Amino acid sequence: MPKHIPLRQCLGCREHKPKRDLVRVVRTPEGDLRLDRTGKLSGRGAYLCTRPDCFRKAKKSKALDRALNVSVPEELYDKLAAELASLPPPPEEVTGDG
Ligand SMILES: [Zn+2]
Repeated sequence: MPKHIPLRQCLGCREHKPKRDLVRVVRTPEGDLRLDRTGKLSGRGAYLCTRPDCFRKAKKSKALDRALNVSVPEELYDKLAAELASLPPPPEEVTGDG
């Protein structure tokens, strides 16, 4: 029997995935949001796939706001999106500078 793997739900695609495949977003006591790859930061957390798509969905539906019970400003979403994009090694180069 394989060992039980704890699953967390991605706020974007709503799929349940192993924690290691997700990135944790933590709300700090200051009300700031931080990406937590170690899972060790204290605070209220939510999970997202590292895919930009999922982040966009979470932003659009304000899932992150609801999950963390905080109003997330647009600029913070952008900052997290940029941080998120820099996390995983890009599987392939995307053309266009948008
Ligand atoms: Zn997802």
